[in-house]
Amino acid sequence: MLINIENIYIQKLKALSINGIQTDILRLDLVHPVISGNKWFKLKYYLEEAIEQNAGCLASFGGAYSNHIVALACAGYEKGIATKGFIRGDEATPLSPTLLEAKQYGMEMVFVDRTAYRDKDAIMQLYHQPGTYWIPEGGYGKLGAKGAGDILSTADTSGYDYIICATGTGTMLSGLVQAAQDNQHILGISVLKNHNSLMSEVASLNYSNKDMAFSSIQGYDFGGYAKHTQSLIDFMNELWLSDQLPTDFVYTAKLCYGVRDLIQTNQILPGSRLLLIHSGGLQGNRSFAPGRLLF
Ligand SMILES: *Cc1c(COP(=O)(O)O)cnc(C)c1O
Repeated sequence: MLINIENIYIQKLKALSINGIQTDILRLDLVHPVISGNKWFKLKYYLEEAIEQNAGCLASFGGAYSNHIVALACAGYEKGIATKGFIRGDEATPLSPTLLEAKQYGMEMVFVDRTAYRDKDAIMQLYHQPGTYWIPEGGYGKLGAKGAGDILSTADTSGYDYIICATGTGTMLSGLVQAAQDNQHILGISVLKNHNSLMSEVASLNYSNKDMAFSSIQGYDFGGYAKHTQSLIDFMNELWLSDQLPTDFVYTAKLCYGVRDLIQTNQILPGSRLLLIHSGGLQGNRSFAPGRLLF
C-alpha cells in the first residue's frame, strides 16, 4: 500500500494551546509524503463508484501544482486503473514537481489553455471515451464530501468542541459538518479571497440530510489562493520549532495562523478543546527555494 491511514494520529499543539484553550491537530499529512490526506479521502467514494462501473480510465482537472491531480494519479496507480489529467495552461518544460510525480504514477496529461479550461463540460464532451469516469476538479461533489466525512473516524475525535479546517472548494468542510456530532462547532478558514459563495457550495453538498450548521471564516487568505507573505513563512518556521509541525503555505499554515488569531482576539471561549485538521499539501512547498523553510 502506498497510502497508510494507520499513520494518522492526533498531536498536541503547544503553539496554539494558549489563553486557556487546548488545541490539537489531526495529522492526515502522514498518510503519504506527497499525496494530500484530504484529497485521498475525497477520492475514496469516486474510486468505489468507478470500480463498480468497471471504468477503464479516471479523468479529472487541475493546475500544475494541484494536490488533487497527484492524488488521483497515485490512486489510479494503486488500483491499476489508468488516469488522465486535464491540466490548466500550456505545458511548461520542465514539468512542475507535482506533475512529474503524477507522470511517474503513470498519469497521461492533456494541457488545456486557460480559456478552454473554464468549460469543463466541453472538455468532457470532446474527450469522453467509453469507460472514462470523470471526477470533478478538486474532488468537489457529494461523493467527495462523503469521503471527507470519514476523516473524523480515523482517530477519537469525539471530545472536541471545535473542528477546524482550511477550505478551498469546501468539500472537506461539508463532509466534516455532516460527520461531526451535533454539539461540535465546525469552522472553515477560507484560503480563497472573498469566497462569498462558499456557504451555499458547502450546503449544496449535503449527502446525509443533516442540518448544515457551520461557520466560514474569511480574512486569513494572505492575498488569495497560494499567495503568501514573509510573516506567513516566519510563522511556518515558528510552528516547526515549537511543535515539529510541518505546514504548507497554501492551506494548513493559513489554517493555523487563523486559529491563533481567533484565540488571541478572544473569539473562542476559554476552556474549549479544538481539533484542527492537517489536510496535507506539503508537496506544494517544493515550489520554494531551498532553505526558506526549516523543514
Ligand atoms: C484541497 C485541499 C484543501 C481544501 O479542501 P476542499 O475540500 O477543496 O475545501 C485543504 N488542504 C489541503 C492540503 C488540500 O490539498
